[in-house]
Amino acid sequence: MSYRHQFADGKDVELPVGKVVCVGRNYAEHAKELNNPIPVVPLLFMKPSTAIVSLNQWFTIPKHLGEVHYETELAVLIGQPLKNADEEEARESIAGIGLALDLTLRDLQSELKKAGQPWEKAKGFDGSCPLSQFISPELCPELAEISFSLEKNGEIMQQGDSGNMLNSITALLSYISDFFTLQPGDVVLTGTPAGVGPLRLDDQLSLSLQDQLHVTVVVK
Ligand code: ZN
Repeated sequence: MSYRHQFADGKDVELPVGKVVCVGRNYAEHAKELNNPIPVVPLLFMKPSTAIVSLNQWFTIPKHLGEVHYETELAVLIGQPLKNADEEEARESIAGIGLALDLTLRDLQSELKKAGQPWEKAKGFDGSCPLSQFISPELCPELAEISFSLEKNGEIMQQGDSGNMLNSITALLSYISDFFTLQPGDVVLTGTPAGVGPLRLDDQLSLSLQDQLHVTVVVK
């Protein structure tokens, strides 16, 4: 089934499915848990549109490529083109807020890091970006006060709050747009809070975005 961006009421978003621009180490506690330095400017990488699948009911993970880690992140859906944008323009371009899993082949990423090579294979493989439905940005008037969480098999693994980001959502969009034009239908993943860990087959995940979006999904 081909993926379309959807709003939380199940209606398709009238935007194409574009690239995913991701931010690494945007929460200090997560940078520490992987023994990474806190970056001076946002650390960016990308996933192609072929990475996107629906975070609905189930998703699959690679079976023979080492550990697959979940990273639960706020996802921002872009509605207006952004290039060299300021934070005000960035704010106005937001068409939706949702949740994403930035699936990561952690063993492979460690090898690539050690060899000084790009992360793409570990971060951008097919299906590496399960995406939820999106809620209207009007439901999140304070972009710096959005909370979200992940439960795995009934246990809380991650609790995030956009107020703890090192770079705010609008600062990230503005910074990204200096390098990569953001187009309608693109998605920005804003970094993971602490608590990342491995996924196993049949794990049951429950993700919540405040009390506005709840998703339960099984790993296949
Ligand atoms: Zn991430």
